[in-house]
Amino acid sequence: MKPAPFAYAKARSLAHAIELLANDDARLLAGGQSLIATLNMRLSHPALLVDINGVAGLDRITSKNGKLEIGALVRYAQAENSTDVARQAPLIALALPHIGHPAIRNRGTVGGSLAFADPAAELPACLLALEGEIDVTGPQGARTVKADDFFQGLFETALGADDVLTAIRVPAATAETRLGFSEFARRHGDYAMVGLAGCARAAGKGLGDVRLAYFGVGATPVRARNAEHALAGGDVDAAVQALVKDLNPPDDVQATGAVKMHLAGVLLRRVARQLAEAPS
Ligand SMILES: Cc1cc2nc3c(=O)[nH]c(=O)nc-3n(C[C@H](O)[C@H](O)[C@H](O)COP(=O)(O)OP(=O)(O)OC[C@H]3O[C@@H](n4cnc5c(N)ncnc54)[C@H](O)[C@@H]3O)c2cc1C
Repeated sequence: MKPAPFAYAKARSLAHAIELLANDDARLLAGGQSLIATLNMRLSHPALLVDINGVAGLDRITSKNGKLEIGALVRYAQAENSTDVARQAPLIALALPHIGHPAIRNRGTVGGSLAFADPAAELPACLLALEGEIDVTGPQGARTVKADDFFQGLFETALGADDVLTAIRVPAATAETRLGFSEFARRHGDYAMVGLAGCARAAGKGLGDVRLAYFGVGATPVRARNAEHALAGGDVDAAVQALVKDLNPPDDVQATGAVKMHLAGVLLRRVARQLAEAPS
């Protein structure tokens, strides 16, 4: 199938992109790895595509005030090859190789993943687990949204129609940071049936500030707050049992809700083991 006809404009700057987005039925184009597929299947038919690939300054990875900032146009492959991401955001480094295939990671962008907000995507869950934040610029200026407030429904975020996501930020990992990541996918590179990103702080022999973010279990990435509490108390079995209070995955094309619940427990045990280990 071919896309419906659309106009195309290349934004020269962030301000120009926002100006172009004010046109009726305009849609921003980043890596195109999700958008072009939806156009080709005629699941969406915008009148104008606003290409931000030429906008300077959105493709940088920088460290500031104990946080790592990743620009919206940073490609997955660029982040995968970044020593700053490996050292300061190791959870994101663990998750990146699970996203699609090399060709998709060469074009797909970090900002596109967050803006598209597929509920089975890896990076939204990582950002939630890391207590990250998202920079947005729109017609009223710039603002920062916490990951906890960003994901609002199925493919729905705090972004307005004329907003551009410009960067994400996560606290840089320290010697006390503990991380875990695991997912079940039918084949490596497929969207996950269920996945889990976890983050915690080593506190004596136990863990503090445990944050567990599941993906593929609902309309958005989901924090498992009861399981977090049990895991901080050192009881993995209780954490797995607590998942019934945290998750209620619907059946989907990949698996029934019951299978997903079972897999969520298996993933929790794996991630709990990773969280208990100091990084080598
Ligand atoms: C075969 C295949 C397998 C895949 N597997 C996975 C997977 O396992 N895990 C995974 O997470 N993803 C997967 N993807 C999707 C991929 O990660 C996409 O790159 C991502 O979802 C969107 O990023 P993009 O840069 O390509 O955005 P685009 O496709 O260009 O845009 C996607 C949407 O986000 C909006 N958007 C993009 N950037 C911004 C911005 N800066 N500000 C505001 N809005 C913006 C666009 O307007 C559009 O609505 C897969 C894709 C394919 C084709």
